[in-house]
Amino acid sequence: MGDTVFVLVLNAGSSSLKFNLFDMAKETSLAEGMAERIGLGEANLTSTIEGNKHRETLPLPTHKEALEAILEQLRATVLHETPIHAVGHRVVHGGPKYGDSVLVTDEVLQDIDHFAMYAPLHNPANALGIRTAMAAFPNVPHVAVFDTAFHHNIPDHARIYGIPYEISQKYGIRRYGFHGSSHSYVAARTAILLCRPLRALKIVTCHIGNGTSICAVHNGKSVDTSMGMTPLQGVIMGTRCGTIDPSVVEMLMEYEHLDYNGITDLLNKKSGLLGISGVSSDFREIERAAEQGNDRARLARDLLTYNVRQYIGAYATVLDGVDAITFTAGIGTHSTFVRAKVCSKLSFLGVKLDHEANEHGTGERIISTPDSRVTVTVVPTNEELMIARETVR
Ligand code: AMP
Repeated sequence: MGDTVFVLVLNAGSSSLKFNLFDMAKETSLAEGMAERIGLGEANLTSTIEGNKHRETLPLPTHKEALEAILEQLRATVLHETPIHAVGHRVVHGGPKYGDSVLVTDEVLQDIDHFAMYAPLHNPANALGIRTAMAAFPNVPHVAVFDTAFHHNIPDHARIYGIPYEISQKYGIRRYGFHGSSHSYVAARTAILLCRPLRALKIVTCHIGNGTSICAVHNGKSVDTSMGMTPLQGVIMGTRCGTIDPSVVEMLMEYEHLDYNGITDLLNKKSGLLGISGVSSDFREIERAAEQGNDRARLARDLLTYNVRQYIGAYATVLDGVDAITFTAGIGTHSTFVRAKVCSKLSFLGVKLDHEANEHGTGERIISTPDSRVTVTVVPTNEELMIARETVR
């Protein structure tokens, strides 16, 4: 096996566990997959190991059984000759403390538990994933890679909320931003596509997937981003409402008789594309319904593209100009419609889309014309590889 390093990347959600095993000498994935519906009766374990697809349905009561089932598959295939040297964990919220990836210690785990105050839907699952993996691999380093870290140094004026300052300070209430591994990865790839140094570029990165966030990247650093203290703020998403007037929360709690859990559920799981369209949170289904004339699906689709355009306009001001706009994640990478619609009203920035490249190209590419003042790119994200790189670093 030579000097290569094998890194297992884990991304634990409340009822899911995604994994990816990397050979870091070549930066290639040997195995990847996901356990879904953990703790919900019959669970699904799907994986692709050395190019072969596997699918199993089995009971996985907790993340512990899910990781054991994943390891059993890996040991029966790639792992019998591949040691794991380190485990990298995606952690959604690093709170005010973590501006960089860290080796997991007891203190770090306690902090991740504590920062569940900002990410109640994510951090408890991330911490559970780490504890489960540390029990399975007690003798290798475990690294926490935070979604918030890339945005850690956005300027104070971009992250403060307009509430009493003492209260912001007391509770750490401010914009943290998310999808950091994705924004930093696609910004770096965009610089490569432009054959220009990242440290000399102004890029707006548009991560448009189930969760959506837009980021203003100046000289390789995040200077503003659309998500907030939690991943609920900003653009509408699959099931999340995005930015709304906080008074809507009070009103709904009173008139719909919702308690904390009820309103959290409504804004995080029943809103966004799903809530507006009544069709689905899956953008492919929204596009299909919109094409068949469903007005609410059209409205949901139009609000998504409108929101993305609003942020690009705002960040052109934040950055005082834009060199590149990058589309990534499920919708950003695959929806020719969304990219065309977003770019259709950016002519004031000098954006000229190459419709042929937008519609017919695949993978990482430039989709603007050579005379476009702003280069528009598509870069499929690779958050897992970023986490593996951080783990090695
Ligand atoms: P992600 O969270 O990055 O996995 O993105 C998931 C979203 O991408 C879902 O809303 C999918 O419907 C959407 N998506 C995936 N493939 C396509 C596609 N070919 N065209 C449009 N949307 C897609």
